Formats: sequence, structure tokens, C-alpha cells
Amino acid sequence: MHLIDTHTHLDFPDFDADRGQLLANARAKGVERLVVLGVYQRNWQRVWDLAQEHDGLYAALGLHPVYLEQHQPEHLLELRTWLQRLSGEHKLCAIGEFGLDYYLPELDRERQQALFEAQLQLAVEFELPVLLHVRRSHAQVIATLKRFKLKRAGIIHAFAGSYEEAREYIKLGFKLGLGGAATWPQALRLRKVLAQLPLDALVLETDSPDMAPAMYPEQRNSPEHLPEICAALAEIVGVDAQELARVSSENARALFGW
Ligand SMILES: [Zn+2]
Repeated sequence: MHLIDTHTHLDFPDFDADRGQLLANARAKGVERLVVLGVYQRNWQRVWDLAQEHDGLYAALGLHPVYLEQHQPEHLLELRTWLQRLSGEHKLCAIGEFGLDYYLPELDRERQQALFEAQLQLAVEFELPVLLHVRRSHAQVIATLKRFKLKRAGIIHAFAGSYEEAREYIKLGFKLGLGGAATWPQALRLRKVLAQLPLDALVLETDSPDMAPAMYPEQRNSPEHLPEICAALAEIVGVDAQELARVSSENARALFGW
């Protein structure tokens, strides 16, 4: 089984003790490429260093809405400088993680929107895919994406929207990132939506260390679990695990140009 983990936070200290071993284990299980996403200015260097250090590890850099309070106006300028400097570097694969989070009421929506649009503009300028965090904000994200001409679209990470929302994203050229959330039997609505989605819109992710799948509850999530997550999702989608692994990897390769 050949798999791609399109969303991880392997730079987090949760992995400091065993990162190398974990990556070796994941690779032995067929997880051939992984994306590590920057979430604020402070972790970009670390994310980039990791991508340089490890085969199969790729970096995305962005300003995540959940860390709104930490972002300073100059960080957007710095992000632009980083993207310019790394332009053409194979190990830089996208802009992200960024997006809109309407779930947490303390996050100012106007400031989020400005940050969201500024990063979409960078994606247009640098012709990179975007890796988006979208929580309770699908309508606003879809409306905003329609105003930008993104050449390479991107991924709606941890997609948990409706079938109609999925269709809007797919029309815009986006892939939907699926991981641990749907493996929970309680996620009835999401599982119903997944069963209706076209295979060519799906990519896989773990969101490690978050979003533990049902088979490893309340544990640190890891790319090592991606084969089991793939098998559980394949059952919901109604294909065999090999087929989901093959198609989702092909989708991710096409998006990232691998
Ligand atoms: Zn994330």
C-alpha cells in the first residue's frame, strides 16, 4: 500500500522524543510522503528544517486562524519573503495552514478574513496549492474562493461539511482531506456524505498529533496509523483499501506536482 499523509504537525514537541523512529515506521507501512504544515511565523524555520532533514517530508508555510493573536502584520510580509526565497524548491509544496475558523467565538472574523485573503493572494502570486482549515465557515470560504483565481486549488483539510459543500469545493478544483474523524461510528452524517463523494476528490491525512482515529482513541495520532485509517475510510466509501490508497495518492501527487 502506497500512501501520502497530506496533513501533519510533526514539528510539534509531541514528536521530539521519537520523530525519526516514527517516520521510519510510517515509511515501512507504505506512507511514502508527508506534508508538515507551518501554523505561525515562529515554527516556519522548524518546519522547513524538518523537510530538509527527512526524505519524503514536504513543507507548507502559513498563518493559521486559531493563532490569530500571535500573528503580527509583518508576518505576512515575512511569509512572502519566505515564499520568494523558497520559490522553485521541491520541498516547499503549498501555502498552509490557513483558513477561517468560526467555531471559536473569540477569533475576530474580520481579521481572519483579511489574513485569509492575503494568503490566497500569495497562492495566486506564487502558483502554489493552499491547505485550508475550515471550521463552521464553509459558506464564507466558498464565497471567498470564488473571487480568487487559484491556478492549483488545494485541499480542504479534515473535511466535515455537507454533500452540497463538497460539490462546491470540487467545482473549484479542490480535494477533500479525510482522516480520523470519519472512523468514529458516531460520525453518522459525515460517513453518509463520504459514501457519496467521487474518489478522485479524496486525499488522506492524519492531522497528527490531533484527530485520533477510533482504533487509537485519546492517543497521540501518528502517520503510522494511516494504513488503518485508509482501510476504515475505504469501507465507508465502499471500495477496497488498496483502491482508496492508490487513487488518493494519485490525487495528492497530481495536486502537489509529484
Ligand atoms: Zn492542521
